[in-house]
Amino acid sequence: MTVTQEDVLSVLKRIAAPDGRGNIVSAGLVSDIAIQGATVMFALTTAPQHVRTMENLRGAVEKAVLGIPGVEKAMVALTAERAPQQGGPAQAQQQARGSAIPGVKHLIAVASGKGGVGKSTTAVNLALALHSLGLRVAVLDADVYGPSMPKLFGLTGKPEASDATGKKMKPMKRYGVELMSIGFLVPEDTAMIWRGPMVMSALTQLLRETEWSPADVMVIDMPPGTGDVQLTLAQQTPLSGAVIVSTPQDLALIDARKGLNMFRKVNVPVIGILENMSYFVCGKCGERHEIFGHGGAREEAARIGVPFLGEIPLDKEVRLRSDSGEPVVATQPESLHAAIFRDVARQVWAALESGGLARPAPRIVMENG
Ligand code: ADP
Repeated sequence: MTVTQEDVLSVLKRIAAPDGRGNIVSAGLVSDIAIQGATVMFALTTAPQHVRTMENLRGAVEKAVLGIPGVEKAMVALTAERAPQQGGPAQAQQQARGSAIPGVKHLIAVASGKGGVGKSTTAVNLALALHSLGLRVAVLDADVYGPSMPKLFGLTGKPEASDATGKKMKPMKRYGVELMSIGFLVPEDTAMIWRGPMVMSALTQLLRETEWSPADVMVIDMPPGTGDVQLTLAQQTPLSGAVIVSTPQDLALIDARKGLNMFRKVNVPVIGILENMSYFVCGKCGERHEIFGHGGAREEAARIGVPFLGEIPLDKEVRLRSDSGEPVVATQPESLHAAIFRDVARQVWAALESGGLARPAPRIVMENG
C-alpha cells in the first residue's frame, strides 16, 4: 500500500496545535514531509521555549502517523526553525535559501558525486590553506552520514554552551580554524540513520546555533552524493559557491557531473573542480604513476566550462596525517601537497572576491490565482 502526502496531512490536520491556533498543519508547524516506502518523516516546528510540550506532542503525532495503513515507521524531527512559508515555486526558492550567517562573509560547499574521493580531506586542507593566506576560517561538517571532521582535526569532546541559557554552542577550534560537527554531539552510529528533514534541521541548528567568530570563509563539508538531502542543503544554505572533488576515474567524473548539475539546479555557482588522487609519485624511484589515468577531470572541466583548480597526488603521508588528525597543510606546510592546496585556496578566494560568482537571478514565475 502506497502512503501519500495527503494521507499524512489528513491525519495531522486532526491534531490540535499546542496554543489553540487550530490544527498543527493550519498553524504551519509541519514541514518537509518525506515518504520513503513505509517510512514517513517530517519536521515539527517549535519555539525553543516550547520544546518540552512539543516532546509530548511529538509522541502523539508519531502514534497518529503510525496508525495510517501502510506506515511502519514515523520519524518526527523537532526543529526550532520557522517552517517554510506556503507559496509558488519561485517564491519558495527565494525564501528557501537561508539568510546569511551574521559575521560570515562567504560560505562554500565542498562536494562530491560519491563517497571516498577525498572530499573531507580536501575540505579540511582547503580550510587550512585559506587560513594560511591570513583569512579567518570556519568549518561546518555537514557530512552527517559519516562526520569525519573531528577525526581529521584530531578533536574529541563536546562543544560547550556559549552562555548560561545554553541556546548556543561554542565551536571547537584547532590549527586556527573554528569547527562544528554533528560528530561532537551524537555517537557515530546515530549519525548514520539521519534522514531527509532531520538532516536539514540538525544542520540548520549546527549552522545557526553555533557562536561563530567573524569569518571570511566558512567551508562546508557536504554529505557525498547528489540526492535530495544534498540538493535541499545546497538550496537552503546561503552558499557563495561550491568546489567539486573528483578522482580521475571516469565513473567519478560522471558523478562529478551530477554534482555540477545539482548546484546549477539551485543556482549556486561552481567555483571549480579539483582532482584528487590524481597521480602517485613513487618514493623510491621518483617516477610519476598515473594509476587511474590522468587528465580526465581537467578535460571534463574545460568541456563543461568550469574552472579546473588543480591536481592533488595520491600520497601515503596525506592519508596517514588525515587519519591521525594532523592535516598535511597544517603539519607539513613545506610539502608539495600543502603548496597545491594553498594554490587552490588562492584561486577559490580570488573567485569569491572577484564578484564574478554572482548567481543568476532567480526566475520569476507568475502564477494565476
Ligand atoms: P570522502 O570525504 O570523499 O569520503 P575522505 O576525505 O574521507 O573521502 O578520504 C577517504 C580516504 O582516502 C581517507 O582515508 C583519506 O585519508 C584518503 N585520502 C584522501 N585523499 C588522499 C590523497 N590525496 N592521498 C592519499 N590518501 C588520500
